[in-house]
Amino acid sequence: MTTEPLLLPVTADTLWTATQMVVGFIAAMFIGSMVVPGLERKGYKLPNGEELPYKLTGMSLFFLTHVAVAVATFGFGISLAPIVHHFWSLFAVTNVVAIAWTLALFFWGRRSPDVLKSEEATSLPIPQVVQDLWYGNELNPRWFGVDIKMFMYQPSLIGVYLIVASFPYAQYERHGVITPQMYCFVGFWFTYLFTHYVKEEFMLSTWDIIAENFGFMLVWGDLVYVPFLYSLPGWWLVDQTEPFSTTTWSLLVVLHLVCLWVFREANWQKERYKRDREALIWGRTPETIGGRLLVSGFWGIGRKINYTGEIGVYISFALCTGFGSPFPYLLPLSLLILLTWRAGRDDKRCRAKYGELWEAYCKRARFRIIPFIY
Ligand code: NDP
Repeated sequence: MTTEPLLLPVTADTLWTATQMVVGFIAAMFIGSMVVPGLERKGYKLPNGEELPYKLTGMSLFFLTHVAVAVATFGFGISLAPIVHHFWSLFAVTNVVAIAWTLALFFWGRRSPDVLKSEEATSLPIPQVVQDLWYGNELNPRWFGVDIKMFMYQPSLIGVYLIVASFPYAQYERHGVITPQMYCFVGFWFTYLFTHYVKEEFMLSTWDIIAENFGFMLVWGDLVYVPFLYSLPGWWLVDQTEPFSTTTWSLLVVLHLVCLWVFREANWQKERYKRDREALIWGRTPETIGGRLLVSGFWGIGRKINYTGEIGVYISFALCTGFGSPFPYLLPLSLLILLTWRAGRDDKRCRAKYGELWEAYCKRARFRIIPFIY
């Protein structure tokens, strides 16, 4: 057990250590994406009619990360606690990496006037160069055969997972125990990411992949916002040594699994429908509006039930900390704000794309995220 401070101050030494950690981790993920086996899949049709090939390596990288951590821990006695101790230095370095990555994308995107761009690029009253930096200037940048937009989910999601997984190491180092709620927190993140990687191809159907350029907004979101904000509740768990009762953590597990099921199943239903219009949903042929909008399964209940389920999952992350502090709840709150904003943007897009069909759909599935309210 140690009485050392949990967080080290930012110094030249800690910045240097953090730089090695961040650059080493991203390089390992990138080389891994190039060399490990993955599922070969085609992307959705692009505005120019092309369907890009993708190699989906997320599950392999997720699995190899577990192997590496297990070997490091049990084979060499290496702890992940330094990730917690170097948090501020890691945060500073990752911001610099996000800026450098954006600049690299920006110059890469200018290599030819024929580079494919998003059709949804906004024209704001700000200089084009600023828009290109912020939103990006290429739809599908690829380096060394790796699709950079899909790749970035790996340092993002495996990055947040490593931060989350470092909290029990820090708790054990400081108190000699790991509480059930800490196991829940890490376990919930495991199920959330495992179910993500089981159907990684789902990401190919998302708006970000199909329709958005890749610039600072998404790069910073992937590299900084997700890992450093989404691991937030862990800070309230490290020094909380009073264990949750079996009833409390069991209820929490049930809540998490139900929300996770709603979130994943809603997404998978839509994805199945888009790939095969006859694929059964809850054992029945899909019901649609105009043969284009799914109203079977969760999509007949609400227009964004997938968002509802995911917000529930994030509430379960925060609930692992109990009710001692409101701060862990900033995580589900931030997701609620982000997804509400996104639902509004998507609603506008669908109204323009589907016209009267969308109106009919809104009458059928009356609310978006919060049943009977919004
Ligand atoms: P959706 O998966 O809800 O996709 C919206 C699109 O699906 C619409 O633009 C439309 O596109 C199509 N669509 C909508 N309703 C129907 C319907 N009834 N039938 C058929 N097609 C329909 O949204 P996102 O892409 O925004 O999100 C994907 C997932 O990612 C969500 O589960 C969300 O929770 C999650 N997410 C998580 C974030 C995080 O930080 N944790 C951030 C952002 C998203 P089309 O033109 O194809 O018809």
